[in-house]
Amino acid sequence: MLPDRGFCCHDRKKRQDREMTPGRETSSLPLPEFVKWSIFPFEGEFRVRRPKPHYPTDRPRTGEPGGPPCSACAAADDEYIWADRNWRVSATRPSGVPVQLFLETRAHVDMDDLDDQLAGELGQMIVRLDRAIQAIGGIGRVHVARWGDGGSHFHMWFYARPRGAGQLLGFCLPMWAMILPPTPEQQWQANVAVVAAELAKVSGTAIAKPQGEPAGDR
Ligand SMILES: [Zn+2]
Repeated sequence: MLPDRGFCCHDRKKRQDREMTPGRETSSLPLPEFVKWSIFPFEGEFRVRRPKPHYPTDRPRTGEPGGPPCSACAAADDEYIWADRNWRVSATRPSGVPVQLFLETRAHVDMDDLDDQLAGELGQMIVRLDRAIQAIGGIGRVHVARWGDGGSHFHMWFYARPRGAGQLLGFCLPMWAMILPPTPEQQWQANVAVVAAELAKVSGTAIAKPQGEPAGDR
């Protein structure tokens, strides 16, 4: 983690506003080839945005000094789809992929805080989630990402890419997931329940249940 005490909340708000508002400054940098690839979700005339100078340090993330409180630490297990002693898995709201999940540590640690035991378990959890998501059926690949630039509580992103969806290959899938119509709620919940049940075959408790089953037994 990068302690960042040099910016107050007001500074952080100003910086967020600056990063999130449409920029009109363009550079003379050449366009990358991928803007012509079919996996790129946009078409038209593009220009490369002018790279901004770096700040002295990163802005504070949630759960670190100067940042907002950690929502993961405040969340109860029933806000997750599955949990065991050291790990919890949550689902996002329905997006344009069959299922989209977060893997989190139970403890408030970041990736570089993981001891050898948790680091080993992380590898197993990534593989278990890959298999559990594929158990939904019709999944071509499970995409895994770790950014961690918004929250300091360790979390990884998992996206189910539908089989045969050639336009969703590769690094643009997170954008497509935000662009395509969301998976219908009932299907989404059914998919989430499959993942939770698969994970619970090895350890922990499935909190998400197939529709029609009681939500108790946690
Ligand atoms: Zn936390």
